[in-house]
Amino acid sequence: MIYISVVFAFCQFFSDAVDVSRAVFFSVGQGDSALVVDSGEVVVVDVGYDGTASLKLGQQLGRGKYIDHLVLSHFHKDHVGGLMYVLESYGVGKVHIPWVCSDSFEFEFLDGLYDGEVKMYSSGVEGDLSYHGPEAPRDCVHSGNINNASLVYSHRDSLLFLGDVESERELLLKDEIGSDYRVVKVAHHCSSSSSTIDMVQQINPDFAVCSYGENSYGHPSEDVVRRFEDVGSEVLHTIDGDITIEL
Ligand SMILES: [Zn+2]
Repeated sequence: MIYISVVFAFCQFFSDAVDVSRAVFFSVGQGDSALVVDSGEVVVVDVGYDGTASLKLGQQLGRGKYIDHLVLSHFHKDHVGGLMYVLESYGVGKVHIPWVCSDSFEFEFLDGLYDGEVKMYSSGVEGDLSYHGPEAPRDCVHSGNINNASLVYSHRDSLLFLGDVESERELLLKDEIGSDYRVVKVAHHCSSSSSTIDMVQQINPDFAVCSYGENSYGHPSEDVVRRFEDVGSEVLHTIDGDITIEL
């Protein structure tokens, strides 16, 4: 049975935090952060701009202060700004970052802290986790649009997290990204820069999540929302509160 709820901060607790398999898309203002709990395994995808995601993880995980996989899509503040709060509060097994270096504080901190333990994924599969890597140069050149270097992550062919990829990158992903997902974290805060009609028809999700807060960028694009509605997706917005989908 599909169960969807839009819940607001401080309302959501699970008695045994890792027993309920679920995806939670946090309301973290203008940014991205999500939690996937599947058969006891904890995956966090992006950590928002500030300490909000860390607080919300605490509500979700209760005494379980361990994250098996921390996936960082790319090193823009609205996705990694909360990193230090999370690292202070939780044990982390593996950190997954895109194969593009960054001169950001967060990248350099991770590089120093984890040294060889930071997994630099361009593509590959590890258990239930699949990474659809960037076609960007796999070195430390800081050029081009870092949105298009986003680590794209899918979970058991059911959940898809598109980071902030834009339409040029979507074209490159077309042959490897799969189709007909149950839940998609829509690219780039549902901006008009992404989610071409071809891509929306291919990924064709039951639930399309637009992750954004108050902003001056025009997120979400009405056209993008309509494209998802046209393929039958239910479009959900984190500005309305945390979104929980049982798996
Ligand atoms: Zn972003």
